[in-house]
Amino acid sequence: MRDRTMRRHLFGAAMVALCIGAMPAVAGAQQVAQQQAKPAAEAPKVDPKYTWDLSPLFKSAADWDAERKALLADLDKVAALKGTLGKDAKTLRAALDAISAVNQRAERLLVYAYIDSTTNQRDPQLQERRNLAVAMSGQLGAATAWLAPEVQEVGAERIEAFIKAEPGLAKHAFGLRDTLRLKKHTLTKETEAALAAFTPVLQSHSDIYGLMTNADIDWPEIKLPDGKEVTLNNTGYVQNRQHPDREVRKRVFDTFWPVYGQFADSMGAALGARVQAGVISAKMRNYPTAVAASLSANNIPEAVYRTLVAETNKGLPTLHRYFQLRQRMLNLPDIGYYDIYPPMVKLDRKFPFDEAVTLTLAASKPLGDRYVNELKAFAAKRQTHVYPAEGKDSGAYQWGAYGTDPFVFLNHQDDYNSVSTYAHEWGHGMHTALANANQPFEMAGYSLFLAEIAAITKEILLSDYMLSQAETKEERLFYLGEALEQMRGTFFRQTMFAEFELATHDAVERGEALTGTKMTEIYCDLLKRYHGAAEGVMKIDDAYCSEWAYIPHFYRPFYVYQYATSIAAAAYFADQIETGGEKARENYLAILRAGGSDYPYDILKRAGLDMASPAPYQALLKRMDAIMDEMEKLLDQK
Ligand SMILES: [Zn+2]
Repeated sequence: MRDRTMRRHLFGAAMVALCIGAMPAVAGAQQVAQQQAKPAAEAPKVDPKYTWDLSPLFKSAADWDAERKALLADLDKVAALKGTLGKDAKTLRAALDAISAVNQRAERLLVYAYIDSTTNQRDPQLQERRNLAVAMSGQLGAATAWLAPEVQEVGAERIEAFIKAEPGLAKHAFGLRDTLRLKKHTLTKETEAALAAFTPVLQSHSDIYGLMTNADIDWPEIKLPDGKEVTLNNTGYVQNRQHPDREVRKRVFDTFWPVYGQFADSMGAALGARVQAGVISAKMRNYPTAVAASLSANNIPEAVYRTLVAETNKGLPTLHRYFQLRQRMLNLPDIGYYDIYPPMVKLDRKFPFDEAVTLTLAASKPLGDRYVNELKAFAAKRQTHVYPAEGKDSGAYQWGAYGTDPFVFLNHQDDYNSVSTYAHEWGHGMHTALANANQPFEMAGYSLFLAEIAAITKEILLSDYMLSQAETKEERLFYLGEALEQMRGTFFRQTMFAEFELATHDAVERGEALTGTKMTEIYCDLLKRYHGAAEGVMKIDDAYCSEWAYIPHFYRPFYVYQYATSIAAAAYFADQIETGGEKARENYLAILRAGGSDYPYDILKRAGLDMASPAPYQALLKRMDAIMDEMEKLLDQK
């Protein structure tokens, strides 16, 4: 979460995969809120050691632009390779090597322009460079669009013979076979071209969401006890849903959700069309279901998704136990849906950035000296952009170009969450570094399915380390409570979303009509089931069941489940690393070193974890119950 992870693919331009935050970020609002570039603001003076040094990528902006022009000039050579792949093994290798080289150069150009632009949105030069980089990626994509169809046309038999004959094709073999695997899901040239032409139409549903929430809906205002008037749009809702005054929280929910309810028909039409598009596309491409089509991109078995949903449902008593504990800690007579967000314990401790570094290094000890020393070396270099600044993007991410050290973008605020974010992003950073060091460019890029495991494992190790060092009961309760809340938000809530996506697509695949009313019904059932309404754990007002209309991630279906699978796998591996000694550690590090040399499901299976089995989900539930055992013991002592 909180980051952008790079995914490399042999057959296509370098791409940035946006890693959507586990807590619903409001994508549409952010897009609209991005202001037109203003005159460059004077950047405040910050010690350079807290900013990054991009010179290992390019010495200067002029160098960057010269390289961009050189790359664009080389695109004709790449396009001229079309039609040569089937000739012989040597020609195939030469063509793929040439395309790889251009992709690698493009990645470096893109990383430099992109990450630089996020440090100051108000600098028009940075924004222009980023636009040029995006345009360059598009041109590279167009110049190599023929590649996958041509490989499929040459066919498996001939390609396999080439791979056997030419050792230099070894690093391209995985990408080639992956392209061949997708042949049976690829349509004729004419149909693919027609579908590609329709892409803007088929992906426009989220624009309707963005326009409605940002422009068309007249959001209500409420007055807070301090006299402040706030508008309850998506941003106002997120800012006030954790208000310390319970009556205010309830009023926020009672005012905000009925607005989505009022627009459920239109929002339902927009989302329903997105679901239809997915179902139709899956059928056209010979997939049994929309979920299978979506998971096919990384060759993840559908059983992973269905096991996640089934095991999470079995584990709901653990989530209900958490709500009861939360009720006890907040000292409430009962617990409502509007009581989920206020913190259970406050920690009065500041974490300056340098301490975040020291703590993360100490917490990484179970990963071995080599890992710690490498991380320490990155911390000593200028790889991290640390503090918030005027014009700087919000959030955090990690990105790196092959052949150089990874970069981490933060908005450090001296609180524990910032320490955890540092550990998370450098979890990604070390994954990138280890994959790059052990794989050729073509096989280094890892998918999101693996990426978040590396990052969340680091967060869990940090949390366990903080607990081992905590001096007071309050501090212990704080770290335990944070860990619980992460499991609710990243595991249970994301699986609830995943189940909604499954249910809406299943309904259309059964031939049922999918309206806003129907979606509210599906969501209501989920919301009540997950929050224990029937068991008397939490009362859910029907008005809150329009929440589905607010979740922007539903316009990118079958994606957020990976946050839930990742935290489950991370819980499993953290246990292994902490108790299994060197063997368990090496087993885990092998996953990071593997990069994208195989499908993520298979990489994990080789490390002993079958994501289609109950094991990871049970590891998470066990950890969550153990945390609550300890918290209850601490509370009883009071
Ligand atoms: Zn992440």
